Amino acid sequence: METQILGIHHITAIAGNAKRNYDFYTRILGLRLVKKTVNFDDPNTYHFYYGDEQGNPGTILTFFPWEGIQTGRRGSRQATEIGYSVPAGSLAFWQERLEKNNVIYNKTAEKFGQKYLTFLDPDGLKFELTEVETDTRKQWTTSEISEANAVYGFHHITITTNKKELTEKVLTELLGYELKATEVNRYRYQTDTVAYAAIVDLVEAPGEAVGHVAGGSVHHVAFRVKDEETLLQYRDRALAMGLHITEKIDRNYFYSLYFREPGGVLFEIATDNPGFTVDEALEELGTNLKLPQQYESSRAKIEAVLPKLI
Ligand code: ZN
Repeated sequence: METQILGIHHITAIAGNAKRNYDFYTRILGLRLVKKTVNFDDPNTYHFYYGDEQGNPGTILTFFPWEGIQTGRRGSRQATEIGYSVPAGSLAFWQERLEKNNVIYNKTAEKFGQKYLTFLDPDGLKFELTEVETDTRKQWTTSEISEANAVYGFHHITITTNKKELTEKVLTELLGYELKATEVNRYRYQTDTVAYAAIVDLVEAPGEAVGHVAGGSVHHVAFRVKDEETLLQYRDRALAMGLHITEKIDRNYFYSLYFREPGGVLFEIATDNPGFTVDEALEELGTNLKLPQQYESSRAKIEAVLPKLI
């Protein structure tokens, strides 16, 4: 099991205004900002990581906030919704909270025998909160969101595709997922290697136009492996399948590989090590602006251009 894909590691999306994004995820959704850094390829913009107390893989949602970016369009060849698990009985709390904060949402519905609530973040990124009976992940709580309601971490990611076989091949043959259930045109794939953040849904919509990845869109989905040795084994296996995959990249908090799956979505494989406490103590996570070594000498300049969050 240790040499297999361990579900979702993180999901990265694109936002517009940085402060609006920060306020929404820390206050309304009640996630912890576990790392405040910059886009390593564009150091004048932030890279935010939101998650549980420790920033455990399977709870991490990250954003590149680009002020003024055009809004994307949901469509095929995209990851189109992000699913979080929440405690059984908590959707009434969430509906009231979303209503009070002028968040766009749909009324509660049900699929695969579970109740869920759909909403959009301020940039139009689509989410589902799914009630689950058991989840032993330790939640991050706030003065407004107690354990009875707080988000556990990821439940699933949904990919919309014109033809499911394209993505299915990578999911099953490379990443070790199996088709577990189907409802209408939604195919639920799951890995048995982990208890949570283990689901990928493919929604097959043959006539759906190709989406445009911009503000309010998922940029990529990262799958989790234990360490670098496993990461490199996956690189060899991806190459053997004819996929174009990057070299190993150091992302400070994990090591990564990237490839575009044949269904059109950018996938990443990322390691558990070294994790978010590599440059900040657990109790201080997210409170300091952390820069990778190559930008430390430009800190004053970078701090001057980054938007204020408070
Ligand atoms: Zn990533």
